[in-house]
Amino acid sequence: MLDTGYQCDHVIARKRKGRRSVKIFHEIKAGRAAVIDARAKGGVGLVPTMGALHEGHRSLIRASRDRCESTAVTIFVNPTQFGPGEDFDDYPRALNTDLAVCEEEGVDIVFAPSVETMYPQGGRTTVHVSELTDGLCGTSRPGHFDGVTTVVAKLCNILPADLAFFGEKDYQQLVIVRRMARDLDMAIRIVGCPIVRERDGLALSSRNQYLTADGRRRATSLSRSLFAARNRIESGVRDAASILEGVREGLRAGGVDDIGYIDVVDSETLASLHHLVDRARICVAARIESCRLIDNVGVDASKDAK
Ligand code: AMP
Repeated sequence: MLDTGYQCDHVIARKRKGRRSVKIFHEIKAGRAAVIDARAKGGVGLVPTMGALHEGHRSLIRASRDRCESTAVTIFVNPTQFGPGEDFDDYPRALNTDLAVCEEEGVDIVFAPSVETMYPQGGRTTVHVSELTDGLCGTSRPGHFDGVTTVVAKLCNILPADLAFFGEKDYQQLVIVRRMARDLDMAIRIVGCPIVRERDGLALSSRNQYLTADGRRRATSLSRSLFAARNRIESGVRDAASILEGVREGLRAGGVDDIGYIDVVDSETLASLHHLVDRARICVAARIESCRLIDNVGVDASKDAK
């Protein structure tokens, strides 16, 4: 018999009477037992994050709370998805603030393991999804998605939830994780959630806090040029090269000169498109100051022009 008795590391009592408490786990066995226990009472939603929680993460938590009886959030800055020279050491870590956010949002379980807990012997197994990982962010971040799929597979094994919620903000990651879950017959269902943006269009990201005021202003050109491209597609433009050139000009005019990529891809296969006929995603990555930002918008070229 599985021992589902568990000891959680702390409990944040909810202020409002009658509500459950957030239970925080740092160890695998106890975290797993808590999710198994919660599943006996109803569906469990999983929200994997690297912490520094913002409105984007909150939206995933709310999506989970809408659909599931209990919600488990993971907070783990996963070293294996950072390349050499990337910002693993500097990545914002704010566990106490994150726990307060989880408490406010009605999260039931937080799993916040250490690197040693997740990779006690370093780890010799990698989950690799082919092809979908080659383009877009995969081109300049070799191994990044292997780190992501491996840690997501581990988290889904540790916390056997019913649904897992991922943001479209990391659109390529969402498509890859969905494919992994399907290819490996994982029992969990992957749910994609829309991008949450600031009023001026900037997609929320834990990395935005690295930006100076000037960088922050220039960063809005990512969403502005993507929205302009979407408008052009809605008014009938179908030639990908022309769309991409428009985005490039928009970024340059907005003061972004270090462009990682601009691509229009099929929304499922992520294959680059020359001519748009169906659902597609326009994706960009750019560096502003020390900060690598990504953004994307969905378009449906099968609809008639407005
Ligand atoms: P991260 O903590 O950056 O690894 O992100 C954890 C999850 O939150 C991922 O599924 C992200 O796609 C999602 N996420 C991050 N930013 C946003 C956003 N602005 N809107 C919606 N989801 C987001």
